[in-house]
Amino acid sequence: MRRKLVVGNWKMHGTLASNAELLGGVRAAEPFVCEAAVCVPFPYLASCVLALQGSHIGLGAQDCSAHEQGAYTGEVSATMLHDVGCRYVIVGHSERRAYHGESDQLVADKAKIVVNKGMIPIVCVGETLAEREAGQTDAVVKRQLSAVIHTLGHCVPQIVVAYEPVWAIGTGKTASPEQAQEVHALLRAQLQAATSHADSMKILYGGSVKPDNAATLFAQPDIDGGLIGGASLKAADFIAICRAA
Ligand code: PGA
Repeated sequence: MRRKLVVGNWKMHGTLASNAELLGGVRAAEPFVCEAAVCVPFPYLASCVLALQGSHIGLGAQDCSAHEQGAYTGEVSATMLHDVGCRYVIVGHSERRAYHGESDQLVADKAKIVVNKGMIPIVCVGETLAEREAGQTDAVVKRQLSAVIHTLGHCVPQIVVAYEPVWAIGTGKTASPEQAQEVHALLRAQLQAATSHADSMKILYGGSVKPDNAATLFAQPDIDGGLIGGASLKAADFIAICRAA
């Protein structure tokens, strides 16, 4: 039995004051049956570590450098993220792929360095609307995951996968539970071909998950929780989604 995981992706939102209020609200609702985590902007990692002391809610970042260290102005290394207390790092979010030109191989390299530094990469895959309409969904997510599988080798079981159809992110259009399950089953089969541990690996769904659709999505056999954007910014919504898992 896989324990469900619900991860908030705050994206580029928040202030010291609003973060403290949000985490205070979420902490007051603990414990959750699921595992929970929040992936916060870099400048707030240190204060969020303190705000989460004594909590089971994990902390994560939203990206990291593929380089170990060195002259990479503006980059943040996996070692630094581990040093400040991160358990998770999102890699390959569609906003990184689309706005920062991140390739499948760069995302795979980031996933690898995150694992090597003792954290869990949440590897995002997902098709655009044009790709779905052209019948390319399966090929796209397979190609994206394949780069990670080949780069990680025997470390594949240490990743979390997040299926996030790009057309469902921040649009209010959720994939139907059946549409999502179909892709999750495909991703599970791909993992099964790569590792004997695939059945214990988590595959999250992301894209307009809200309190009112979370339970039916999470009830699907291969959906092991969610990566939550907009709804993770309101304590009541994030708590409701954690309770649906
Ligand atoms: P959303 O974002 O829940 O606001 O659609 C999800 C994500 O981008 O991770």
